[in-house]
Amino acid sequence: MTTSFINNNTIIIGAGPAGLAVGACLKQAGVQSILLEQNDKAGSAWRRHYDRLHLHTDKKNSELPFVSFPKEYPRYASRDQLVEYLDSYAKKFELDIRFNQQVQSAQRKEGQWQVGTQNAQYSAANLVVATGYARKPFIPEWKGKDLFKGKVIHSSEYRNGVQFKGQNVLVVGFGNSGGEIAIDLFEHGAKPGIAVRNAVNVIPRELAGIPILSIGIVQNIMPAWMADAMNAPILRAVIGDITKYGLRKLPYGPATQIQNDKHIPLIDVGTIKLIKQGHISVFQGVAEFTENSIKLTDGKEAQFDAVILATGYRPRVNDFLQDASHAFDNEGTPTSTGKESAIPGLYFCGYYVSPTGMLREIAMEAKQIGTAIAKSREKK
Ligand SMILES: Cc1cc2nc3c(=O)[nH]c(=O)nc-3n(C[C@H](O)[C@H](O)[C@H](O)COP(=O)(O)OP(=O)(O)OC[C@H]3O[C@@H](n4cnc5c(N)ncnc54)[C@H](O)[C@@H]3O)c2cc1C
Repeated sequence: MTTSFINNNTIIIGAGPAGLAVGACLKQAGVQSILLEQNDKAGSAWRRHYDRLHLHTDKKNSELPFVSFPKEYPRYASRDQLVEYLDSYAKKFELDIRFNQQVQSAQRKEGQWQVGTQNAQYSAANLVVATGYARKPFIPEWKGKDLFKGKVIHSSEYRNGVQFKGQNVLVVGFGNSGGEIAIDLFEHGAKPGIAVRNAVNVIPRELAGIPILSIGIVQNIMPAWMADAMNAPILRAVIGDITKYGLRKLPYGPATQIQNDKHIPLIDVGTIKLIKQGHISVFQGVAEFTENSIKLTDGKEAQFDAVILATGYRPRVNDFLQDASHAFDNEGTPTSTGKESAIPGLYFCGYYVSPTGMLREIAMEAKQIGTAIAKSREKK
């Protein structure tokens, strides 16, 4: 049965870190909001991530507005600790989260946002889209993929390596998920390979005991090329020559990569050591699948029992945002974030791939959005 709620201020779509942070900032500013979440718990994306996952960013630079991580948490919180933090965050601010509400349409009509879920209609003056940069798994098409007899899963479905013990497993993609899943497979007794299509940059999680993110924040005031020039000799000394192990190094450094390509370099939590020791094999990009092997872009072919696609995600806000095409690109990635978009009363939070960490960026954007919405209410 369809129910209808009229809410006069703000609807936030998504109760992940971004939605919760915006909800808290609005609450502190005395603005009423409701959050619509498609799953039955807050932070649901983090609940599904693989078991081994820890934040790659240190806790000081990963906290949401107004609430620090508990003192007893380690510098890099585990997945479960982050989930616990998000739960207590939602409780602390008494956020009004409507669970099991999957937004299917959102449209501005006569100055109000009309938002439809599978069984209800909501309306509000402002809409904050916080459905995550990683909303939809991205799965490339390859010739022969359907012929392959082994298991093929996206990294979003990977929990741990138990079921892959003793198997040859190819991880496709050398991002932070791919790098860590290859470690996890090795630790569970599988024989992992990693397919790396493009040239890469690798950075350590810490330098001389200082989180790499803190160094990035200090260097953020200088041009990317300058930060890269400063860091190059240190990175060479710490990471070594990755080209000896079949990897190709990007001709520019990590800061330029984030700025231009919008890709976070591999933050190494042990993958490179296992590659150097021969426990993780490096392959070129995937060209084609056969029944039980993968043909690679350099013409080689190798047999695998399973393939894990660490091939990333897409935000795809175009799946539900209607008549708003000038607020996102062809792939449904918002063209602005952390402020009012080109459409009145429409805000996005959490869509900037930041060199200083996405959670830190989300916290800053949430505060900006909270202030902007509170101010727009005062004007009326
Ligand atoms: C594996 C992985 C590791 C990461 N590690 C770090 C890290 O160490 N440090 C860091 O700073 N960042 C990290 N990030 C990036 C980023 O900080 C996190 O992804 C973070 O969870 C983003 O928060 P979010 O609220 O924007 O999105 P999400 O956490 O994805 O939350 C979005 C919410 O929206 C809901 N939703 C989506 N569509 C709808 C809909 N149509 N209707 C209703 N609800 C909907 C989802 O169910 C979800 O609860 C990592 C990302 C990934 C994928």
